[in-house]
Amino acid sequence: MPEIDAQRLLRDLYDLRKIGTYKTGVHRPTFSPQDVESRHWLVARLTEAGLDAEIDGIGNVYGRCRAPGRKLLLGSHLETQNHAGWLDGAMGVLYGLEVARALGHGIDVAAWADEEGHFGSFIGSRSFIGQVTEAEIDGLKDRNSGVPLREALARAGFAGRPRRVLDPDRYLGYMEAHIEQGAELDDKGLKIGVVTAIVGSHRFRIVFEGVQNHAGTTRMAIRKAAGVALVRLAAAIEDRFPAVAGLRTVWTTGRITLDPGQPSIVPGGAEMLFQFRDTDPALLETLDAALEALVAAANQGPCRVTLAERSDSTPQAMDAAFQAALTRAAEKRAPGLYQSMPSGAGHDAQVLAEKLPSCMLFVPSIGGISHHYAENTADADLVLGCQVFTDAAADILGR
Ligand SMILES: [Zn+2]
Repeated sequence: MPEIDAQRLLRDLYDLRKIGTYKTGVHRPTFSPQDVESRHWLVARLTEAGLDAEIDGIGNVYGRCRAPGRKLLLGSHLETQNHAGWLDGAMGVLYGLEVARALGHGIDVAAWADEEGHFGSFIGSRSFIGQVTEAEIDGLKDRNSGVPLREALARAGFAGRPRRVLDPDRYLGYMEAHIEQGAELDDKGLKIGVVTAIVGSHRFRIVFEGVQNHAGTTRMAIRKAAGVALVRLAAAIEDRFPAVAGLRTVWTTGRITLDPGQPSIVPGGAEMLFQFRDTDPALLETLDAALEALVAAANQGPCRVTLAERSDSTPQAMDAAFQAALTRAAEKRAPGLYQSMPSGAGHDAQVLAEKLPSCMLFVPSIGGISHHYAENTADADLVLGCQVFTDAAADILGR
């Protein structure tokens, strides 16, 4: 079995961490100067490794092996959440680079643009599988700054470049390594997670319409307080969902707004952003029905309650044969210290899985911390994960 160069891997990880350092983490939002620098840095590393590397018109870094024969595509992302961790995304990309070097040929490497969703939803990987139209790009803006994606691409120097699109015949499949971003492996003292499926999520904007009025003169009996209706529904969800949810189902009320949000005004409007996630499509439908029933019940009160907007992502099962290859590699390098588990977070692999057999490997996150500058994984675990990933890639390539 091919051995990785542990020092080379760690050196690259620590070098990349220097681009956009923030405390012990990094701040590299999509198409910020630091993010653009990291993409050029990666192109240089891939080129050194003998790949044909470039940045395409959506900002994807794509390194292609020149040798003939079917390849594996390995990737993740380089940008980060704001003021976040140094391994989320970066680790998977540099595992790809190290596997390409350790195996010599048969590996293409990608860093997908904007997995973290500063502008949209998986625009890099979705562009690669042909799902992003020019009109979608026209409409996207940075969620924080409002800068249009077109302008950000132009500033980055990527505007006008062709967008690379998947040639499915080139690949045996797609592999992505990632930190777990949860505490399960760390809590159990395990080193490797073999991902079975990536959760789907159903996301809702729930709107409450009441009547705005004076907080001093409006008697309680005649109020139509939108905020009260919202709080009642949020509490009803917390009461009801445990009875219908699965063992790993999660649900979140993420943002609540009252309109107006003033101390002396009964709010006439309110809205909440709500989502739930699970790997089981049937369970997601059950939860839809439970939510709709609660909303119907809420409409018996003084305010009008509507599910105004929703967006869904579907759960994606990982390829069984690829999972088996990861499990064999884990058993060899970390006997007894691995488990199969779903991914509660979304990843580019769920997009690639629509077109290619795909799999994911997790390494432990210390304390389960992620999307925070304290995010970390022990060096030994970073090295072990990459070796398991490399062995599995070699196995799938038939070496
Ligand atoms: Zn990530």
